[in-house]
Amino acid sequence: MSMTAQSVWDNCLLFIRDNITKQAYKTWFEPIKAVKLTDNALSIQVPSKFFYEWLEEHYVKLLKVSLTKELGENAKLVYVIRMENTYGNKQPFTEKIPSSNRSNSYKSQDVDAPLKNKNPELRNPFVIPGIRNLEIESQLNPNYNFDNFLEGDSNRLARSAGIAVANKPGGTSFNPLLIFGGVGLGKTHLAHAIGVQIKDKYPDKTVLYISAEKFTQQYIESVKKNNRNDFIHFYQIIDVLIVDDIQLLSGKAGTQDVFFHIFNHLHQNGKQVVLTSDKAPVDMQDIEQRLLSRFKWGLSAELQSPGFETRVSIIKNKLYQDGVEMPEEIVEFLANNIKTNIRELEGAIISLIAHSSYDRKEITLDLAKKIVENYVKHTKREVSIEYIQKVVSDYFQMDVETLQSKTRKRHIVQARQLAMFFAKRLTKASLASIGSQIGQRDHATVLHACKTVDNLSTTDKQFRKYVDDLNKKLTS
Ligand code: ADP
Ligand code: MG
Repeated sequence: MSMTAQSVWDNCLLFIRDNITKQAYKTWFEPIKAVKLTDNALSIQVPSKFFYEWLEEHYVKLLKVSLTKELGENAKLVYVIRMENTYGNKQPFTEKIPSSNRSNSYKSQDVDAPLKNKNPELRNPFVIPGIRNLEIESQLNPNYNFDNFLEGDSNRLARSAGIAVANKPGGTSFNPLLIFGGVGLGKTHLAHAIGVQIKDKYPDKTVLYISAEKFTQQYIESVKKNNRNDFIHFYQIIDVLIVDDIQLLSGKAGTQDVFFHIFNHLHQNGKQVVLTSDKAPVDMQDIEQRLLSRFKWGLSAELQSPGFETRVSIIKNKLYQDGVEMPEEIVEFLANNIKTNIRELEGAIISLIAHSSYDRKEITLDLAKKIVENYVKHTKREVSIEYIQKVVSDYFQMDVETLQSKTRKRHIVQARQLAMFFAKRLTKASLASIGSQIGQRDHATVLHACKTVDNLSTTDKQFRKYVDDLNKKLTS
């Protein structure tokens, strides 16, 4: 009987399941996919880096025991992290080879780009040698769909435009559809949802999702390999092209140029283009004017930060999907404290579920507070008193010992006072503890320093500049 990645992993799961709580199993093991088995190494795919770290921290022994049972002493585990935005990259890429009677339809009809394809075989930039297939993989993530893209005032326009486009690709005035908005507000999700729905409704249409970053890499590669025309032709046969994060094309003249040709060709042939960007078209810099004007042809729809109600429904939906219950006051606490980024909101929920399931604790408001605090702390960098002294001494071109010394030279005293002032402002340390760390002073000295800095920065322009400069260095 031959072993496969799946069969080995299934056996491991049987063992793991018996040794942890149902909730933990559901949270940490159900999302894993077994992807490859070579000799004694099993590769498993996990959804994020956080996920991988969590497994390593909490379940490594269990994994080891179960895998050794299956594959022997030399068993190895390999993690494959499925990064966001590159969903599908781990699948074998495919190549499209037109049969001779179809090859005519691949002739370029674009006046803007009269490129002759001398090579009869169309090369797909998503190619791994040896794998040949007649389909183009859409690179779509089916987990990002309209059903789980909750509607709210913040996204109503973009969402309904997306649905309109999905129902009639190329057949609305929303072409291109440009979705723009800040980080973590759902651009990638919505872009996939459009593609997924089109694939569902029109299985014969060729849909392709690609990040602008990957598009750029492929283009550069094609120039190196001298098959820029093949690259262009590949993109010109697509019915629905979805390009994520087009702001990344800024400053890249060659890529913009090639995208311009592809765009024109698709548009003239009634094909749909969907774009996302973290900026509105007017704010995009270093994008050629002729390309910018194309972006404005269709509809630009903004995703804004969700309001309280929408945040609550997003949390509830997430909990529902994970089969977890949480008291209303905790849901509201989360919605009140994480406001501007849905990805962070989801991250906090996952940590909360994780902590409670791992420690077998109930989900309480206290736990939620702790996690939100950690969450906020993690995103901002923690500043230490040591670091503050280093930055201040560097700024005044002295070393830390000088800053801490007993000298009364004015500029050294000032530097020391500034260090104390920032330590009070940026850390949770007490006056006494700040004093003892900055040259063995007492709490009264630190207090005096804080007052002096306050006074001087309102009366002395030069001093004000020191404070501002240092503040920038310490908090950015
Ligand atoms: P962006 O591409 O704008 O940075 P993403 O599309 O990656 O943001 O969204 C971040 C996370 O928030 C994703 O997990 C996504 O599923 C979720 N999300 C965003 N908007 C919504 C929404 N309206 N309903 C449900 N989940 C959402
Ligand atoms: Mg994105």
